[in-house]
Formats: sequence, structure tokens, C-alpha cells
Amino acid sequence: MARADGLLTHEIDPTDRKPQDQCGVFGIWAPGEDVAKLVYFGLYALQHRGQESAGIATSNGEQILVYRDMGLVSQVFDERDLETLPGHLAIGHTRYSTTGSPMWENAQPTLGPTPWGTVALAHNGNLTNFEELEAMADARRPAHDHVVRTHTKKTGRTRPYRDSTNDTSLVTELFASAEGKDLTEAALEMFPKLVGAFSFVFMDETTLYAARDPHGVRPLALGRLEHGWVVASETAALDIVGASFVREVEPGELIAIDEDGLRSYRFAEPKPARCVFEYVYLARPDSVINGKLVHASRAEMGRVLAREHPVEADMVMATPESGTPAAVGYAEESGIPFGQGLMKNAYVGRTFIQPSQTLRQQGIRLKLNPLKENIAGKRIVVVDDSIVRGNTQRALVRMLREAGAKEIHIRISSPPVKWPCFYGIDFATRAELIANGLTTDEICQSLGADSLGYISVDGMIAATTQEPKELCTACFTGTYPITVPSDAATALERSC
Ligand code: SF4
Repeated sequence: MARADGLLTHEIDPTDRKPQDQCGVFGIWAPGEDVAKLVYFGLYALQHRGQESAGIATSNGEQILVYRDMGLVSQVFDERDLETLPGHLAIGHTRYSTTGSPMWENAQPTLGPTPWGTVALAHNGNLTNFEELEAMADARRPAHDHVVRTHTKKTGRTRPYRDSTNDTSLVTELFASAEGKDLTEAALEMFPKLVGAFSFVFMDETTLYAARDPHGVRPLALGRLEHGWVVASETAALDIVGASFVREVEPGELIAIDEDGLRSYRFAEPKPARCVFEYVYLARPDSVINGKLVHASRAEMGRVLAREHPVEADMVMATPESGTPAAVGYAEESGIPFGQGLMKNAYVGRTFIQPSQTLRQQGIRLKLNPLKENIAGKRIVVVDDSIVRGNTQRALVRMLREAGAKEIHIRISSPPVKWPCFYGIDFATRAELIANGLTTDEICQSLGADSLGYISVDGMIAATTQEPKELCTACFTGTYPITVPSDAATALERSC
């Protein structure tokens, strides 16, 4: 039930957590505005993309200051911290770390020197050619051999000291040795060498930059303030700071913003492979990705699910809260009334008091309570967006049966998750994924449900209204649009 800091998480069962976006990024260039506060609220809107650490870097045109720490945005910053971050441009980052690496050194933005000034960098995604890039950094290093070398326990190799183990600090280091007359040229030289998923926001003392990989795997949106510009992982973060949506940062595009205005550069031809899971679960429902409101996609997934897996029942309910749009869609299409069967304690993940052992044993009951009058004697359809290990759904089925449900039919608005993600989403390992090795009937039996139905891959894609060939569906199909690293396990540990 607890986070790395021992406090409660929002997840119904943290040992069976949903696929988790590993970072949210935000950037702003707005003279005359309190940019640190705007980044703070932007990160607040992106908190679902990372809850382990948060950081903000600001610049007044001459000097960059960074403040970062472990914890939620609201735990890391208070009013006084934000007052120590003056300036007119800023970037921010909220990070979820993979198991075993929730450490301060991996918090972002990272900071590093370059021949053109200091660079602060924040990253959402995962680079799949880390070894190659590390070798490139090694080869380029003689010109920068002031860098301290250390021996890494993991690989047994001697490598330069960087203050963190993720790929973001490697990119920061590569900036220092890239060729070009300024940071823009250095970025245009370096980005074509990066493989994998990256949505970057970065800055030097005077200029805000944003860049997105040629596949546009992770989202990145551009917004306009009256006197400035904003970039953010999701459009919902633009809304919250009062910025109007302009367009997405295009796959393969680098944007630079400073007192001369906005300049756009292309470092690669776009080959879109947007993450379909952003539509299923990861992004906020009030965000728009490539012209499609995420909430509308989820409701449509529910309608498709009702057509693909109909059932006679008395009530449709959602697994709180991410299953709600699909459950409403299922109810609309099937004509079965939508109802509430479970109440979620909305504030439980925000308490700063550690749960006692007795409370931990309460399991998901600490977070969910069944509405017995709505459930008893009824045939119930429970709609959820995905099944990872199955522990959550098993506990829910048990809870609903104890509350008197007559039948329980589980419907899932994504296909079975069978493959890991190398592009910035943390899944359970392949061996832990319940759909990897069991048939749908066997999974149904394991959950203790009366029936189980998953939406088809085609049905899910159709609900997003995106071109099928422009979506990544690898975790469902095993077809990866970008080269998968040879050392997969190590690559997953470095994600951000
Ligand atoms: S494998 Fe592709 S679809 Fe699945 S989470 Fe990763 S990027 Fe998204």
C-alpha cells in the first residue's frame, strides 16, 4: 500500500500497479510572469505521469537555478522554495522511477555545462541505444577529460562520473561534446543519433527548447500565453496555466523560443508511432492527443467493448476511477444502466501519515468500499482499462461477491497486455503479466469472475480515430516500431 517514502499510494493495489508513465515535462518562456509558479501548477496537472520526484529549473537570462527533490510536487515545493526561483524561462519535471531507482540523483531537470552555457534538461521517454550513446560519449571525452571517472559495479566498466544513472544525464553530457556554433546546432547534430522515445524540454540561460523523437511516441504540446509560450507533456497542463493550445511539437521537430520568437527546425522525417496506451489509460482524459480527446476515445472503447462482448446484466460499473469513461460508453451502447458499486477514498493517497500494519492488512479496502445496496442480488458488468497481474481484479471480484453480487462480468477496454514497453512506460515483467501464458478463459477463472472480455486490437485502434500505422501497439501485439535494445532488462531500468 505504500510508496517508496512509506506513505500511501493512489493505486488500488500498488503491487499490481497499472502501466505507469515515467515522466511529465513542462517548459515556459514568459517575461513578466512568475514562471516558477506556472511550472509548479503545470507539474501539478502532470502529477499522474510521475510521483517519485519533481524539479524546476529557472533562468533570469544569466543564471540557471535548479530545485529538485523526492516526492510529490506538493511535497517538494512550498511557496518559499518557489520564491527562490526567479526568472522568465523555466522547465519542470515530474518523475516516476522504475523499481529500485527512486533516488535523488535521478530527479530532473539535470544540469550540465556546455561550450555555449549551462543546459537544464527534462525528459519523458526512453532511449533504446543507451550503450551506443555511452560509447559515443566515451569516445568524445578526451576533449573533456576533466570529467571524473568511476568504476560501475553493475557493468564492471570504468565510465565517467555522471550524477545519475538515467539516459537524461547521458544526453546532457553529449550536449557538451556535440558539434555546432550554438546549442541549437548541437541539438540538431545530436538528436538524429538518439534512438527510442524522447519528448525533451531543455533550456540554457536564454532560450527554451522542446524536441520530440521522429516517432512522436510520447505526447508534447505547444501553447500560447498572452506574453509567452508553454510546452507540456499534455494539453491539460496548458489549460491549467491558462495557455491556449497551438499545436503539437511535431515528431522529429526541435523548437527554440527566446526574445526573437519561436523557431522551428526539423532533425528527422516524421514516422509517427504514437503510444496507443496514452489513449487507453496513461494520459488525462481531458487531454487531447493528435486531435482526439482522450476521454472520447475511452468512451468509444467502452461502446466497442459492448458490441464485441455483450452480456445480460443489471448494472455496469467502473473500477475507480480510470475505468469510468469506458464503463459509461459500455452502458450507453448496451442499454444497461450505469451505477456506482464502489466508493473510492479520494484523499487516501494524499495523507502524509504512514499506514499501520493493521491498516495495511486491510488491502484495497483501505481505498475502496462497496455500496452494498447497489450490488446485492445484481448481475454486474465491471469495466476496467487493463489487467496487469490480475491481483486488483481478483480482490475486486471477491469484494463484490461478499457484497452480494449475483454475477460478475469483467470487461477490459484494452487487449491483453503481453509484452514489455521500451519507450518509457513501466510494466510488470513479461513473466508477471497475467495474459502472458494464460488464455482468456483461464484468466477469468483465476479472477473468479463469471465472464471476461477484452476489446480487440482493431476495436481499440478504431476508438482512437488514429491511422493504425501511426500508432505503437507493441505491448499488445509484440510488433515494436523502434529497435528494441539487446540488453532489455538494463534498458528498462534506465527509463524516464
Ligand atoms: S509498447 Fe507502445 S503502446 Fe505499449 S505502452 Fe509502450 S509505447 Fe505505448
